[in-house]
Amino acid sequence: MDNPVAERLRALTRLQVLDSKLDEIHRLRGSLPEEVSDLEDDLEGLITRRNRIEDEIKRLNDEINAKKNKIEEFGAQIKKYEEQQMNVKNNREYEALRKEIEYANLEILTSEKKIRQFLEQIEQKEELLERTQHKVDDKKRELEEKQKELERIVDDTQKEEENLLKAIEEASAKVEERYLQGYRKIRMNMRNGLAVVMTDRDACGGCFSIIPPQVHIELKQRRRLIHCENCGRILVDHSFFDEVEEAMAQEA
Ligand SMILES: [Zn+2]
Repeated sequence: MDNPVAERLRALTRLQVLDSKLDEIHRLRGSLPEEVSDLEDDLEGLITRRNRIEDEIKRLNDEINAKKNKIEEFGAQIKKYEEQQMNVKNNREYEALRKEIEYANLEILTSEKKIRQFLEQIEQKEELLERTQHKVDDKKRELEEKQKELERIVDDTQKEEENLLKAIEEASAKVEERYLQGYRKIRMNMRNGLAVVMTDRDACGGCFSIIPPQVHIELKQRRRLIHCENCGRILVDHSFFDEVEEAMAQEA
């Protein structure tokens, strides 16, 4: 039976081996999850833009219909005034109707001009809509490809990931809370996620700074947890690390 420090080191080393395997899976997936989520955001933005253009076109068509109704109404009025002109009693009445007709005709002209302007705007919007729809289609295709790529990698590694997560949970439970927190904190600060490293000849396997001979002796004795003075990682001697890894390989 190991002494408590060695037990702790063994548990931490196991945890590191498992965490490193999980890191490797995540490295394999790389930036794909992030790329997929970026593409999803882009697509959503484009769809919003497309819908807005469609709304604008619809609004312009409504405006045109309103103007057309107006033209029809004024047309009917003109017809009515012209009939009334046939039956006027005097010149003044005739003149009043003539003014009304003139006004109605002016309104019709203005409305027709407006309609032409709206139609021009619609034409521009339709072009914009088509361009935007192309962008939506392209983005959709791009997203689907990336999603498939990610799914494929996730499928390949999912079972392994689940097993690792379970094993990590079990291994974590065997480390006292304060050491576990210390381990996680170091891991988080290290770009390669290594909190426990083996010695590499006479150097730290994490930062390769030289370990003093006295520390080497202490490492072999395993009476206390030793951190690299330079990078702060937990040091274990090479043979111990190998031993733990071999034991794990045999379990598997
Ligand atoms: Zn170091």
